[in-house]
Amino acid sequence: MPSFSAGASSQKQQFARGRQLIRQQRKSLPIASVEKRLVEEVRNNDTLIIVGETGSGKTTQLPQFLYDGGLCQDGKVIGITQPRRVAAVTVAKRVAEECNDHIGKKVGYSIRFDDSTSNATRIKYMTDGLLLREALLDPLLSKYSVIVVDEAHERTVHTDVLLGLLKKVQHSRANTNKNGKTLLGHSQNVTIKECQGIRCAPLKLIIMSASLDAKCFSDYFGGAKAVHIQGRQYPVDILYTYQPESDYMDATLVTIFQIHLEEGPGDILAFLTGQEEIESLERLIHERARLFPPESSKICVTPIYSSLPSEQQMNAFKPAPAGTRKVVLATNIAETSVTIPGIKYVIDPGMVKARAYNPVTGMESLIIIPVSKAQALQRSGRAGREGPGKCFRLFQESEFDKLVDSTVPEIKRCNLSNVVLQLKALGIDDIIGFDFMEKPSRTAILKSLEQLILLGALTDDYKLSDPVGHQMARLPLDPMYSKSLIVSSKFKCLEEMLIVVSMLSVESIFFSVREKLEEARAARKRFESSEGDHITLVNVYRGAAECLEKSRNANAKEKTMEKALNRWCRENFINYRSLRHARDVHRQIQGHVQQMGLSMSSCGDDMVLFRRCLTSAFFLNAAMRQPDGSYRTKVDCVIFNELVRTTQNYIKNLTRIDPLWLAELAPQYYATEE
Ligand code: ADP
Ligand code: MG
Repeated sequence: MPSFSAGASSQKQQFARGRQLIRQQRKSLPIASVEKRLVEEVRNNDTLIIVGETGSGKTTQLPQFLYDGGLCQDGKVIGITQPRRVAAVTVAKRVAEECNDHIGKKVGYSIRFDDSTSNATRIKYMTDGLLLREALLDPLLSKYSVIVVDEAHERTVHTDVLLGLLKKVQHSRANTNKNGKTLLGHSQNVTIKECQGIRCAPLKLIIMSASLDAKCFSDYFGGAKAVHIQGRQYPVDILYTYQPESDYMDATLVTIFQIHLEEGPGDILAFLTGQEEIESLERLIHERARLFPPESSKICVTPIYSSLPSEQQMNAFKPAPAGTRKVVLATNIAETSVTIPGIKYVIDPGMVKARAYNPVTGMESLIIIPVSKAQALQRSGRAGREGPGKCFRLFQESEFDKLVDSTVPEIKRCNLSNVVLQLKALGIDDIIGFDFMEKPSRTAILKSLEQLILLGALTDDYKLSDPVGHQMARLPLDPMYSKSLIVSSKFKCLEEMLIVVSMLSVESIFFSVREKLEEARAARKRFESSEGDHITLVNVYRGAAECLEKSRNANAKEKTMEKALNRWCRENFINYRSLRHARDVHRQIQGHVQQMGLSMSSCGDDMVLFRRCLTSAFFLNAAMRQPDGSYRTKVDCVIFNELVRTTQNYIKNLTRIDPLWLAELAPQYYATEE
């Protein structure tokens, strides 16, 4: 039988149907019925708190209501901040689609290392960290008429700092109106940034939260009005395990197949703690599906986590092919930040990756800890959005009662150097006196000030140093990484350091599969440097660049080159997604570094020089191997980049150094007393 392609008219019909479906979906959201009232409230209140259940339509709809309601006239922009990159990107794409427009026109997103906005953009989704950076260049955030701080209940460190800053900006803009001149700064006796002559309309501020407790936000904003949006939630059956699960990855795998084989139709959402877990579970599912066809093969896995390339993130939102069941493997991004349609079953191992900080040592680490009750409830709620659902908690019911009610705000458990540096660059000098919604401990603030002085970003009297402090504040990186780039330009190895910083900005460069451990190990050996992981990372990056160079020389097209790189990655057990991400980051930081006028140079094979440079940058993270009475007389000394805590502390990404270099290259910290 001949096959026919859809004719133009039928394509048109399909398109019209799609548009109609979107219109219907939008209309059916709980927020749709209160559009007029919300716009009115925003008009009447300069600060408004909106609380509404996840999935009620806050993030995707409110900005469109405000736009249609005329709240961004005179070329002004409605800015919406998200704690997570993935949410900023996927939501912006969805809203652009709802507006029947391409991304980057009326609707755009801007996240670190990826900006899709144009002059035409009026609804701009971005990360909270990015808006903080924008304030460095435009202290009054004058291009925005409205700023929506979304997901405020998450209380990320950037959200908390942003709320403090926005409170000031709002105040300054109100004052600008009165006398045409404004002051931004915390107290009179410290640096004050003057923004003379800029006239700005008042800033409308909207705080959105999925948690019912709006009081803390309302109190912070002088009793600001809060409105609640009714959600719509179907019943969710909660199931617990009878026994404690020793391996939640394995338990998740088993549960996925149990649901797939025994339960009715509906997609599955499983919460894991990060890219590494998600990718390894993805592989395990495929492995098992191969072993048990045909039922098991009717499963379609889509991962979603922050460093996944954005076109792949969108796959999680697409319906699974007919006859298959979609399994979404997500980090806590899918708790409240994004809503994936079609989910009926949720698997919650009850764990989350979080930052933890020891203010005495100044060390931050990543730990995997039990979720809070609030998080567990949000997770189970995801199963009941479109109909009754089921949530499989992979722990015992008695364990649920032991969970903390809600998570401690991140500002109380992270290294503050980054935040302090940014506040300093914004002209806010009195950090301890800053109006934080929740004050970090004095010890933590003092520790970060001390670290910034040691890194040379601040002078001894706590002022931003010139030029190092200013340069460091401009780079969108952790202060230690910024410092490493500045130092490396002096050591003449900026090329290598740029690679290191890019590679350290992504998760899991290497991967291995259970049945090919030996092969993976052998592949890794090809890149491995006995001197340390940083050099290994440089070798991998260069190996990939060589592969691309080869196909470029063969005049290959972009697509073919990417294919070749993908193959090369597979052969070498390198994570292609991570490598691509690292190359993106590299391109972006290179741009910043060039703008700053740092001189690009390579140290060639002089790895001693490079290790000295690493020492000079990461001296705050030096560790000595504890003498254990073995034959070795000289203690081993390393610098490292990451501290991970599981049942034990361990350090990741380390390079061997000579301990004498510490005193020589970082005398401000290591000088021995005479
Ligand atoms: P809230 O912010 O209140 O949690 P959202 O505005 O994020 O709610 O989501 C509203 C609705 O839009 C949800 O029902 C969700 O299914 C739908 N939605 C959001 N993003 C997408 C997307 N990328 N594709 C399809 N539907 C989406
Ligand atoms: Mg939302």
